[in-house]
Amino acid sequence: MTGAKNIQTLLLSLLISGVLSGQNLQATKRLVDKLASHRFEGRGYVKNGDVRAANYLSKEMKKAGLIPYFDSYKQPYHFNINTFPGNCKLFAGENELVPGRDFVIHPGMRAVEMSFNLRWLPDTLTSASQVYQLIDTTTLHEGNQIVVLPAGIKNAWRHGIAGVPALLQTEKGRIWWHTSTTQLADGAVRIKVKEDKLSAATKTIRLELDAEFKQDHQSYNLAGFVRGSRQPDSLIVFVAHYDHLGMMGKKTMFPGASDNASGTALVLDLAHYYAINPSKAEYTMAFVLVSGEEAGLLGSKYFASNPPFDLSKTAFVVNFDMVGSGSEGITVVNALQFPEAFASIRSLNEAGKFVSKVVERGESCNSDHCPFYEKGVPAFFIHTQGPENQHYHDTEDKAANLPLTKYEALFELMTLFVEKIPGLPK
Ligand SMILES: [Zn+2]
Repeated sequence: MTGAKNIQTLLLSLLISGVLSGQNLQATKRLVDKLASHRFEGRGYVKNGDVRAANYLSKEMKKAGLIPYFDSYKQPYHFNINTFPGNCKLFAGENELVPGRDFVIHPGMRAVEMSFNLRWLPDTLTSASQVYQLIDTTTLHEGNQIVVLPAGIKNAWRHGIAGVPALLQTEKGRIWWHTSTTQLADGAVRIKVKEDKLSAATKTIRLELDAEFKQDHQSYNLAGFVRGSRQPDSLIVFVAHYDHLGMMGKKTMFPGASDNASGTALVLDLAHYYAINPSKAEYTMAFVLVSGEEAGLLGSKYFASNPPFDLSKTAFVVNFDMVGSGSEGITVVNALQFPEAFASIRSLNEAGKFVSKVVERGESCNSDHCPFYEKGVPAFFIHTQGPENQHYHDTEDKAANLPLTKYEALFELMTLFVEKIPGLPK
């Protein structure tokens, strides 16, 4: 091949890979695929899925060309977490139900292997106090009774009902899961089951569950940066959490493609972009991938309390969590707290027609922007909106179900936004 052809080929491959236009959708899809695959066990705690994801992502940070803030980009910290590495079986009568799809167990449950007789309560109940009018809880231990509650008693399975050791709440809508850093009392059973998986003829259930409480599980935040070309002392920080819920039993994985392989991939894509185009990084661009979000923002809390850079010099933190849709625009949490910066996103969007709308929301401590914001750092949490992806904390939050509808548009809007953050030194 001649030199000219080499250059042509190089330009062509750069165009295809999106480097010249900024984002790289193909690389993002590959990364989401990988992070949501079985290799990382749902990036939870069974078989150290989160740690394996951290090792993989720190290599990606290196490949992107980021300067590490820590040894190999990793900041270790610890927390307790309850896990389900073994059996997770539920039988309704003779029928074996599908974990994750037909039922979930409370994430704080201990190991149990037991059959229960169903004690049905009327599906008109709406509060826990009504339960006490209908049953004498001191008799529940007789014959291993499990109380069946309707969906109308909000979050009964999550918070429990005093005096009711075993409860099963039925669910008409979606089944979704979460995590727990503590264990329920010994013998407490709380499960949520799809309503159509039980009938009046169902008299018994059998639960076979292994659980392992991990004390001081070691997890890692990751961070690297591109040095600012004009104002290196001022920082703009991009954040996303890479952890997810992991495994509920041996086979049931919560893949977390939307939540939050999507945000992780966007942060790494931005890292590539600024590393390749350092002149675009007028301020120091920091890229932070945290873990422990699903366990209660534990990674970002630790990071914001032990930052490797000066938080007082941080002009803005932009946190991405669930950015895989976008047909109905984006939502900006903390918009009301930082109205000038929000107005800037809106006017850039009006000029460039990136997404159909930019929705403002007030403060909400619901993702990793919050620990930074609580330390006085201006911070937004941005997520996409749209009916094309409604999977949330369920087993179908797979890469194949993630449309990344407005990924490129969001990428471009964000690069423009951070160039023009109000109040940054000129
Ligand atoms: Zn989540």
